[in-house]
Amino acid sequence: MHLAILVHGGAGEVSAASLEDRQRGCHAAAAAGYAVLKQGGGAVDAVQAAVAVLEDNPLFNAGTGSTLNREGRVETDAAIMDGATLKAGAVAAVSGIRNPIRLARRVMDSSRHILLAAEGALRFARQQGIEVCDPRELVVPGQRTRWEREHGTVGAVALDSHGRLAAATSTGGIFDKLPGRVGDTPLIGCGTYADARGAVSCTGHGEDIIRTTLARSAVHLLEQGLDAPAAAELAIRHFVDMTHSEAGLIMLDHQGRMGYARSTTHLPVCGMTADGTLISAA
Ligand code: ASP
Repeated sequence: MHLAILVHGGAGEVSAASLEDRQRGCHAAAAAGYAVLKQGGGAVDAVQAAVAVLEDNPLFNAGTGSTLNREGRVETDAAIMDGATLKAGAVAAVSGIRNPIRLARRVMDSSRHILLAAEGALRFARQQGIEVCDPRELVVPGQRTRWEREHGTVGAVALDSHGRLAAATSTGGIFDKLPGRVGDTPLIGCGTYADARGAVSCTGHGEDIIRTTLARSAVHLLEQGLDAPAAAELAIRHFVDMTHSEAGLIMLDHQGRMGYARSTTHLPVCGMTADGTLISAA
């Protein structure tokens, strides 16, 4: 059994104290996802559970605690992908959803589409009985000053006991973004991707991640024979060569090998495998 889960808490630069808190948050999320896998649950359920824990933690730029756009409002993006079926669900520029990853999952399971945005996504949420809250409830105090310097998109990748891979990513986007701006996170192949070979969740400068289709590019390296640790490093190296920009990613290959790499100062990650291995890095 190659059960594995790996989560991240966003690429960027954070203070030492904040980094420790984020590592603790990542650990709690990895444990939640791992519990799902351990009970025989699917990789998709595991990444959803892990990302929902991070969305509920106000330290991270996803769900509650999301960054503010130019108008001082929260607009979130999220995506989930099942590597075994290539089914995916995503939402973009949605306000007033506490757990955008749950809505993305519903788009995957209960609609004919992959990506729903803004008002249409909210209407779909209401139809599906997903709680819609006042967007101001997602704003935490002190956020404006904090998000000017810190990031904290969240993501998870998992491999379940049936060998199925999945990826999920959720974000408030980038500080001071224009209303309606959509980043890499909900775009399949850019910020989020999973197939039978690998699962990837990215974080960093969304526009540059989109132009390099970073998540799919990383899986392409697995197809060329690299394992996840080598593919992650090379994907980020190619990304930097092409854009001179900032990003990080986590990935798993079909054997449950974990890869993570970054061009930023920090990328808190936490991983757990069936043999009890715990990986924690910053
Ligand atoms: N990639 C996210 C975005 O551009 C932000 C981040 O990862 O910090 O929306």
